[in-house]
Amino acid sequence: MSSESQELGITESKSHKPGEWYAEVVQKADLADYAPMGGFIVTKPRGYALWEAIQDSLDGWFKETGVDNVYFPMFIPESFLEREKDIVEGFDPEVAWVTQGGHDELEERLAVRPTSESIIAPFMADWTRSHRDLPMRLNQWCSVVRWEATETKPFFRTKEFMWQEGHTAHASNEGAWEEVWTRLGQYERVYEDVLAIPVLRGKKPEHDKFPGADTTTTVEALMPDGKSVQGATSHNLGQSFAEAFDITFVDEDEEEQTAYTTSWGLSWRALGALIMTHSDDQGLVLPPTVAPTQVVIVPIWQEDTKEEVLEYAEGIADDLEDAGFRVELDDRDERNPGFKFNEHELNGVPLRLEIGPYEVEDGEATLVHRPDNEETVEDRDGIVDAVDEHLEEIYDKLYEAAEETLEDNVREAHSPEEILGTIGKHGGYVKTPWCGDEACEEVIKEKIAAEIVMQPLEDEGGSSGGEVPEPDRDECGVCGDPADEIAYFAKSY
Ligand SMILES: [Zn+2]
Repeated sequence: MSSESQELGITESKSHKPGEWYAEVVQKADLADYAPMGGFIVTKPRGYALWEAIQDSLDGWFKETGVDNVYFPMFIPESFLEREKDIVEGFDPEVAWVTQGGHDELEERLAVRPTSESIIAPFMADWTRSHRDLPMRLNQWCSVVRWEATETKPFFRTKEFMWQEGHTAHASNEGAWEEVWTRLGQYERVYEDVLAIPVLRGKKPEHDKFPGADTTTTVEALMPDGKSVQGATSHNLGQSFAEAFDITFVDEDEEEQTAYTTSWGLSWRALGALIMTHSDDQGLVLPPTVAPTQVVIVPIWQEDTKEEVLEYAEGIADDLEDAGFRVELDDRDERNPGFKFNEHELNGVPLRLEIGPYEVEDGEATLVHRPDNEETVEDRDGIVDAVDEHLEEIYDKLYEAAEETLEDNVREAHSPEEILGTIGKHGGYVKTPWCGDEACEEVIKEKIAAEIVMQPLEDEGGSSGGEVPEPDRDECGVCGDPADEIAYFAKSY
């Protein structure tokens, strides 16, 4: 390795110092930088491209299922927030306020949106007259601000973060539930089919649901360091927001009815999960689905072979580009192949093609998989199909590795000592019967900072809230009282 490539590389180890390693990958792979104000980051082109890849998938699915995009102001008058007391109480400690405009003090403080229910709902109320106006499905891609005093971790913990927030109104509770499941399914799909991350679906316990919600459903992803990430949430808000903001409609019998509403969101924390799940001590690892560059071609030449090697490599690059792949031909003169290999590994390019004089002579190309360096020689003639197959294989490798981590890390425990010991030793999820009392979560939380991240659901997808299945034993894993629910404890991001 040249000294140049050592500077370029990652110095921390994922298994020993996951926090430091993560920060290094984000910066060295050019995804984001720290802003001058604590708690904020600057998203660089390569990081933003990943966010756009998620956006493209989700936005397409939203539109296919009846959602329209809108944009509401980033400021919310205090009196609007106060119309929903749960929102006020839930977000109060984290709301940033604007009190002055130019040189003048404002008559009414404006909140920087921590979420937009309280400004969208009044307009939905205006726009909803008859049952024919429902369902109404609105979404906005924007950023929100929650002033949390914690250490900055790009994409996981920042005061301002990018997300999408969907807001819908329905004539019936069944309609609202269908909506909740549709969105939860789309979130699951973006994790599993785009980000190569398997997730668990469930609901948040009563004490941890979205302020004012009837039910909060969630997809949870397990990170290699044993902590759970809340991947996205989809809330059935029941009629609480509709009542607070007068979202009513005239039904088919000319009777006035109160609507049912939902909200659902996925933030750029999905990027954090993506980086954390697949990357390694060489740098970023990306599934081909989202990688800004899917294939890099590195020509390897001497002065006397340069012309023929380059010409051959260009031909392959053209063929791949024509077939729709995102390809880069790295023909920089001033860098040697070793440097280029390291750089593209650091940046997470899923597939590398090496072309030297031997490949040219034999009409072949050498293909190297980023995640495990597996090397294969393929014929020049069938290169387009071969690349397609290899990219799929790489996706499957990443998914399967993440799936194995998840499957190996759901364990059962039946006493506080066992719960604490299991999470302490292995991390991951600990599944236990639960009485439903928040105090039992506190016992675990105080000692080890693990909490109930979700409760599994069965019969979900239908027109009701789904049921938490009965546990195998009927005693709460913490207090021993009768238990008829299952809880998953984990440390979380
Ligand atoms: Zn209990």
